[in-house]
Amino acid sequence: MYRLLLVSGLLVLLYYLLRRAIRKMRADGGAVSLQEEQVAGNQMIQDPVCRVFIPRGNAVREEIGGQTYYFCSRSCADTFQKQLSS
Ligand SMILES: [Zn+2]
Repeated sequence: MYRLLLVSGLLVLLYYLLRRAIRKMRADGGAVSLQEEQVAGNQMIQDPVCRVFIPRGNAVREEIGGQTYYFCSRSCADTFQKQLSS
């Protein structure tokens, strides 16, 4: 009786592992565009104010005078705008 429980437990575990593997495989196959997007989001860009490099996905995006700038933080974006207007 104990052995039967063990075997069925193992089977359930195996089933879950298999299902997870299949799901992961499907996600890998179907998410190519998402991965490319992530790569684009991880592209390093330089903050024009403090010269720090930040991944584009984490940057603060600001459109100033029709051009898009990326900053490491909100305060850098504000500083940049003040610099431009002064
Ligand atoms: Zn900055």
